[in-house]
Amino acid sequence: MTLSERAALFGIHLTAEQIAQFETYARLLVEWNAQVNLTAITDPEGVEVRHFLDSLSVVKALTPRAGVRMIDVGTGAGFPGLPLAIAFPDIHMMLMEATGKKITFLQEVITALGLKNSDTLHARAEDAGHLPEHRARYDVVLARAVARMPALLEYLLPLAKVGGLAIALKGVTAQEEANDARRALSILGGKLQAIHTLALPGVPDAHALVVVEKVAHTPNGYPRKPGVPTRKPL
Ligand code: SAM
Repeated sequence: MTLSERAALFGIHLTAEQIAQFETYARLLVEWNAQVNLTAITDPEGVEVRHFLDSLSVVKALTPRAGVRMIDVGTGAGFPGLPLAIAFPDIHMMLMEATGKKITFLQEVITALGLKNSDTLHARAEDAGHLPEHRARYDVVLARAVARMPALLEYLLPLAKVGGLAIALKGVTAQEEANDARRALSILGGKLQAIHTLALPGVPDAHALVVVEKVAHTPNGYPRKPGVPTRKPL
């Protein structure tokens, strides 16, 4: 199956230019991976399904409207933020990452693809969550494979506007992590909206999107200092 056919399964129709952008991204990912540790998945099929399609699966939880401001926290080599930015040129995507070399890679990809809707932010979530230009500024806050749910919500919810969403891409532990996050949700101003389970073609393990709505302001003391959210999760 081609990437175009796979994306169509999620109702996403890619142009020839967007397909070419995905091809360039995949090539740069594999090239850079020889120098910078970006991903364990480098075979073309794996990159397409486990990185590109997995990222695009976010559309099962939300329709990216034009002008929506999204941030991907701990984006690594750009997942899920960059595939979404390629597929939806009318959204705005901020790619946040703590590791400088990964930021350099992301900037290279943005330039090579000519993406006008994406920016990078070299920061830790615990710091960015207190900066006026980022705190409560995003309609949608995303993350994949960054932390367990209670700590992750402390990274994500301060960045979301009240009425905005935090979406975590999770695996089999989605429900259990959501249960463990009840206290974090009530402290940080979040409300569990839904857990969408979905299948990726040819991938046996379960995949889920945990969707949390920000229903109240996050108290000023959160996020706590770098390292504390994971060391002492709420
Ligand atoms: N989201 C990408 C993916 O799914 O392929 C990368 C996942 S990788 C396992 C976790 C990434 O989150 C790393 O690149 C790490 O540097 C970043 N990260 C971890 N904690 C972070 C924090 N507190 N603030 C910003 N980035 C963080």
